[in-house]
Amino acid sequence: MALKLGSKGEAVRALQQMLNFIGTRVRAEDGDDYRPLTLDGDFGPRTQAAVIEFQMQHGLLADGIVGPITMRALEEEYRTLALDLVSPGADSLTGDPERLTFERCPADPWGEGYSVVWLRSDVAERYRAVLEAVHAAGGILTSSGGRRDLRAPVTTGRSATSFHYTGRALDLFLYSGMVNPAKDPYVVVRENGLYHRVYARCDEFHAEVRELESVVTYRNRGATLRASGFFLDLTALFERHGFRRIAARPTFYTGGSELGAEWWHFQDETGLVRGKSTFGDELLKVYSRETLEPTPPWRYRTYVFGVNWN
Ligand SMILES: [Zn+2]
Repeated sequence: MALKLGSKGEAVRALQQMLNFIGTRVRAEDGDDYRPLTLDGDFGPRTQAAVIEFQMQHGLLADGIVGPITMRALEEEYRTLALDLVSPGADSLTGDPERLTFERCPADPWGEGYSVVWLRSDVAERYRAVLEAVHAAGGILTSSGGRRDLRAPVTTGRSATSFHYTGRALDLFLYSGMVNPAKDPYVVVRENGLYHRVYARCDEFHAEVRELESVVTYRNRGATLRASGFFLDLTALFERHGFRRIAARPTFYTGGSELGAEWWHFQDETGLVRGKSTFGDELLKVYSRETLEPTPPWRYRTYVFGVNWN
């Protein structure tokens, strides 16, 4: 049975949970905040608006009704993201002395973000140094995950040679920035085309007063906003510890999915040599060949850093 305005019950609640997880957001009636849906099992106007938003982003008939086609698209997106974001547990920790291990690092819970991030052991060490510096300035580091499961399906818009597979990348919580620059833990500024600079909100004793311009939010992507407060240049801090940012997907600035913003992504490029290091070698630093062979990323093992992989 289709779910639509007026529907009630457990199926609606599950739908609301799915929309929140996917990150479909609608503007709250009373203000500028992008807020998750309330999980009340009541298909009201906000749930309907979120469904329409999802349908528009996926090229579906935007009627606000969840029939079999929309439900299928929702489930597919949910499954992909769930595999993407869930940092697997200890099962893939390898005791092989030849290889580096994955480590569970603390992150600061914020909203629906995680309180942990799994990273390769040497990367974990550099991450903890960043975390310490951010805390010392009165800021926080949120998390949407680090290591990505090797079996996570490769989809359009998600790199087959992502640094997440090797435990070299982390994502800050997607909704801890670009939502409300007056309150979020991070304020995101557009610079150099598709690159962003991320500022962490800190305290008055440890950070500089800054007037930020060209601030971007999911809802206002024109880089016309401003924000002021006590901020630490988080992008610069990460860079001092070997982490680099990546560009937004071009579609983000042509009205595409919020998931293309990528402001949250930082990857550790320490030790990689452009034109020389391969994706396969990086995978082999953490996984055995037998583990890798049946997985999708292994197909891209010959990709070279700075050439066809970055
Ligand atoms: Zn990422």
